[in-house]
Amino acid sequence: MAGSCFVGEEIRVESPDVIYTDTEILSYYNYHDSRIRGNVVTPTTERLVFKTQRQLPKTGLLLVGWGGNNGTTLTAGILANKLNVTWNTKEGLNHPNYLGSICKSVTMRIGIDDRFMPVYAPLNNVVPLLNPDDLEIWGWDISSVNMGDAMRRAKVLDWDLQRQLYSNLKEMLPWPSVYVPEWIAANQSDRADNCLKGTKKEMLNALRQNIKDFKNSRRLDKVVVVWTANTEKFALIKPGVNDTADNLLRAIENNSSDISPSTLFAVASILESCTYINGSPQNTFVPGCIELAERCRVLIAGDDFKSGQTKIKSVLSDFLINSGLKLQSVVSYNHLGNNDGKNLSAPETFRSKEISKSGVIDDVVRANRLMYRSDESPDHCVVIKYVPYVGDSKRAMDEYISEIFMGGRNTISMHNTCEDSLLAAPIILDLVILAELCTRVQVKRDKDEEFTKMHPVMSLLSFLLKSPQVPPGSPVVHMLFPQRYAITNFFKALIGLPPENFMMLEHKVP
Ligand code: NAD
Repeated sequence: MAGSCFVGEEIRVESPDVIYTDTEILSYYNYHDSRIRGNVVTPTTERLVFKTQRQLPKTGLLLVGWGGNNGTTLTAGILANKLNVTWNTKEGLNHPNYLGSICKSVTMRIGIDDRFMPVYAPLNNVVPLLNPDDLEIWGWDISSVNMGDAMRRAKVLDWDLQRQLYSNLKEMLPWPSVYVPEWIAANQSDRADNCLKGTKKEMLNALRQNIKDFKNSRRLDKVVVVWTANTEKFALIKPGVNDTADNLLRAIENNSSDISPSTLFAVASILESCTYINGSPQNTFVPGCIELAERCRVLIAGDDFKSGQTKIKSVLSDFLINSGLKLQSVVSYNHLGNNDGKNLSAPETFRSKEISKSGVIDDVVRANRLMYRSDESPDHCVVIKYVPYVGDSKRAMDEYISEIFMGGRNTISMHNTCEDSLLAAPIILDLVILAELCTRVQVKRDKDEEFTKMHPVMSLLSFLLKSPQVPPGSPVVHMLFPQRYAITNFFKALIGLPPENFMMLEHKVP
């Protein structure tokens, strides 16, 4: 924008409501909303205090499914950035970057300058954020292949880059993991040569020991665990098994076959006080697991990285419905040829993905009773096919049909081709960076004595997740820009600034 400005260093707010110490930022914050009873609306203000630790902890990232396309692409991408490895393609010399990461590549509006022009800043100049180059990375995989060969197997990064990173990556060997064949597609069995043995309890202890050893040997302050392994089938919620935290722990003791590998990882992570993020669609966070996170005050987030098609869907459904056009049909076809696609070709794992993708237009439809009756929704169909030839370069084809003025029809069709893992890797980074920030933030109502941690279920990360987990009883927001402004307005709250309001009254009031 002509005349817009940029703050290229850490912001410092001057206000009686904001106190910076060497270790913390304290923000006394007025949270404004409205309470509605019948047709009577009362504006409300809640005085909150946020306390953000300024020092960045030494942080480790453990990836479950490390040797997959996402895991290797992320590891290699960070290494390339850290070592500033450049590489040649037929288009010329490439430099490493963090495009696709909102923490590294996006700015937010802070306010206006003396000429009433907007001023922007990167997120990490608002509050301190981890630098991905400083992350210590390791992980588990049911395939024993080292990260160098796993990167080659993935066929995602350019060859000249792979060539330069290979020797570093081949030294990285994944820890054995929990493999229970009935939880993922049968077609994955041929790569499962690195599997833990023993009962569920013994495997849980082995995972906990891995986390402890990693933390101690690297002298880490914090560890974040991310599931980027294959999609599992959905778990049935069974009373007495996974419905409460105690039942879940007892079921693990009893070696119950109803506990999925991903839930076992989540439990290990929570018991080791490590934030756990679920990047796949399955319902890892059974009620007992959420209760355990609440009890241990450990942050969790999920489900399913939101990389391409779902992002577009949450934007287009918002655009159409909030323009007053009645969206009636959404049909999405995908085909992809990577190992994720192979795993999703089995009906039970596909079903998990279908469920995860299906909720995305719900909130925008439910918010509009002028166009949709309470029992009415657009038709919504999702198809995914495995086509090996296209590899990681996923194709997404979508058709949106809406009813317009006076009986007209509006049909939008689109075709998207993109390397799936190059979209997912920066999203994993953002999840880790933002989740780590959440562990440094404490909050209280002004009148309360004690600060507490944020709610363990991090709905703040919804922008990055297809089927966002929210605290029990809280509404789910799928619309992309509200999700994004939830993050940037939260950043503003941490330094005592008002939320973005878009009114630009300084240019409208004479
Ligand atoms: P991938 O198949 O290339 O990698 C998954 C890895 O997990 C494999 O190396 C496999 O051996 C390993 N694995 C399977 N079960 C395991 C277990 N129990 N423990 C440890 N390792 C295990 O898949 P990917 O493309 O990297 O995607 C990973 C996950 O992320 C998938 O579930 C996918 O649906 C999800 N996801 C990906 C994207 C994207 O854009 N790439 C978007 C949303 C969600």
